[in-house]
Amino acid sequence: MHFELDHLESYDDQALIEELRRVAALVATPTLTIGQFTALAKVHGSTLQKRFGGWRRALEVAGLTERIDGSNLSKTREEILSAMAATAATLKKETITIQEFLAHTGVTGTPVRRIFGSWKSALLAAGMSQSPLAKRYTDEECFENMLAVWTHYGRPPQHDEMNQDPSQVGSKAYVRRWGTWRKALQAFVQRVNGDAPAPIAVPESASVKAPLSLVTSDRGPRDIPLALRYYVLKRDSFRCVTCGSSPAITRGVVLHIDHIHPWARGGATVVDNLRTLCLPCNLGKGVSPA
Ligand SMILES: [Zn+2]
Repeated sequence: MHFELDHLESYDDQALIEELRRVAALVATPTLTIGQFTALAKVHGSTLQKRFGGWRRALEVAGLTERIDGSNLSKTREEILSAMAATAATLKKETITIQEFLAHTGVTGTPVRRIFGSWKSALLAAGMSQSPLAKRYTDEECFENMLAVWTHYGRPPQHDEMNQDPSQVGSKAYVRRWGTWRKALQAFVQRVNGDAPAPIAVPESASVKAPLSLVTSDRGPRDIPLALRYYVLKRDSFRCVTCGSSPAITRGVVLHIDHIHPWARGGATVVDNLRTLCLPCNLGKGVSPA
């Protein structure tokens, strides 16, 4: 059976040492960490650790003293950060797992914990997101956040403003994705101008004033697409059309895009049926007898 190939025929001391020597020959780095060993071996490194009284001791018994990593004790913050960057570059990834880091660098987890406390903190210090699944923002998430911050200031946000409230996506994410902050702004403008594919249907023969990408088939979706929200906010000068308040002037003001004729009652998601309202005006409208 296949899985038997992943097991040693014997687990006596000699078999474990032979396995350690076999794997050591396969690993190119000067040091051999327990993580590197386990990744390639037919037995978990912790088995050797227990048998020989530590990883270091196992290497000594196997005659691999030169593969013990004493330099890990003196690793600096900068050395670890540059090793992380080198690993990410080698793997062509924006973020790396601690397993990838340990396997590629020969650095142990000890100095990482000593200097950064956790892998999460190390990633933060390196400007990497925690996990490609959980924290890597999509273009749309970046654009949504850009619109929120743009609305907050009533103008194109500046690089440093992406790292302050109410921004939820830091400037680093934009620079990583688009190269520079300026290019990220250009990408946003292109997106809201409809040069990029918009997630709304565009009729072939539409003849209306609004840009083509702002035209939705029939009533359109209840949720107002990004480009349309931007168009309405800009048309209304990032102010509530009823009371004139704006987040750029008054702290705490939050603007919403409102369907003048409610979507629930058949109103369409089209530019002429949309307006910018602050929350109190939006609620005031909501509770008044219609
Ligand atoms: Zn208002």
